[in-house]
Amino acid sequence: MSYYSLTSIPDYYGIDALLTEEHKLIRQSVRDWVESFVMPQIDHAAQNHTDIPNLMKELGQIGALGPYIPVEYGGSGLDQISYGLIMQELERGDSAVRSAASVQSSLVMFPINEFGSEEQKRKYLPKLAAGEMIGSFGLTEPNHGSDPGSMETHFKDMEDHYLLNGAKMWITNSPLCDIAVVWAKNEEGKVQGLIVERGMEGFTTPETHNKWSLRASKTGELVFNDVKVPKENLLPGVTGLKGPLSCLNSARYGISWGVIGAAIDCYCTAVQYSKERKQFGKPIGSYQLQQKKLAEFLTEITKAQLLCLQLGNLKNDHKATPAQISMAKRNNVNMAIEIARESRQILGGMGIMGEFPMMRHAANLESVITYEGTHDVHLLITGLDITGINAF
Ligand SMILES: Cc1cc2nc3c(=O)[nH]c(=O)nc-3n(C[C@H](O)[C@H](O)[C@H](O)COP(=O)(O)OP(=O)(O)OC[C@H]3O[C@@H](n4cnc5c(N)ncnc54)[C@H](O)[C@@H]3O)c2cc1C
Repeated sequence: MSYYSLTSIPDYYGIDALLTEEHKLIRQSVRDWVESFVMPQIDHAAQNHTDIPNLMKELGQIGALGPYIPVEYGGSGLDQISYGLIMQELERGDSAVRSAASVQSSLVMFPINEFGSEEQKRKYLPKLAAGEMIGSFGLTEPNHGSDPGSMETHFKDMEDHYLLNGAKMWITNSPLCDIAVVWAKNEEGKVQGLIVERGMEGFTTPETHNKWSLRASKTGELVFNDVKVPKENLLPGVTGLKGPLSCLNSARYGISWGVIGAAIDCYCTAVQYSKERKQFGKPIGSYQLQQKKLAEFLTEITKAQLLCLQLGNLKNDHKATPAQISMAKRNNVNMAIEIARESRQILGGMGIMGEFPMMRHAANLESVITYEGTHDVHLLITGLDITGINAF
């Protein structure tokens, strides 16, 4: 249970009036699920660096996996604002929960739906949507993070199969995954996507230990040592970096919404605490220094909400540009991490404790500000959009 009343979740500019009844119902149902399923166990999972049991099946049951994937493939056929609201609610619980849903939806189901064959869609999407199958997305490599175009993972055409070699690093859910959508270079040096299945000889997924961030999420490597990948596992619909980058656009959009949830959790906790905690005979919320912080949090959350809503409208109309998505991802993650850090101070010593969410969110957001394009890389994308000059 959250420490604050859910009725205190801010809608300062009356944005609810711009949502449909369906949007509000979806948001409420995910909010309720987060309260009953995530909140009671998230601190334990994060403190103990364990994943949340049954998380993917639960996410499947509430329709959080591939919400915008067509119904015929097991999705819910929802619009992009619904997807955003789901991500917001999940990340109010924890970035690990939102990451699980983001990766499965935008980085695994999205490319199979966009670029996969009919057989691939029918084979994988319904199970992924139900959470009966867990997917991971392999783009980043030990030597190539912000610069995925230089990737070394490659495959050769052996006539009756492809032979895959290389390694991916920092892969969300790799230790748990049943399949991985892997981006690798063909013999012409062009990037293509392959669906690699657990059990294929030479494919291993070692876990990355000792993270201080996203501790309720499993991260690991994908290692390919002469893996024979059947020819029917190549994604036929895309060649080049635009394949993985289009997945990242979808995931970054979801992150822009998601981190508002983390910020809301910190803000609402801080408001409640500032009214209860007394020092020098008065609630700390009565002091101007603390009110300044709260006022700035609410201002930044409201701006982020408006940014996301309009970005969602553009995305629904297929008009959102990658640079617009970069701006929202960068702005909103930074907004959330600043609120997590500053709101922790409002709680004084109590702010470092697991009963309150600030340290967990702040630590999680250190990953979120780095993955799916770093804070700096998104700035360079905006700079390129303004000037037409590539500063990478
Ligand atoms: C918890 C977690 C989960 C992840 N999950 C996945 C996943 O599921 N799948 C996946 O493929 N990847 C995943 N990633 C990887 C993530 O996307 C990369 O960490 C990210 O892209 C940055 O790459 P890097 O860590 O190699 O940093 P680098 O690219 O080495 O960057 C290091 C620093 O240099 C800066 N920099 C780089 N290039 C430039 C430049 N041209 N100009 C100025 N500054 C520059 C960066 O902004 C950064 O500050 C995950 C990462 C984390 C931490």
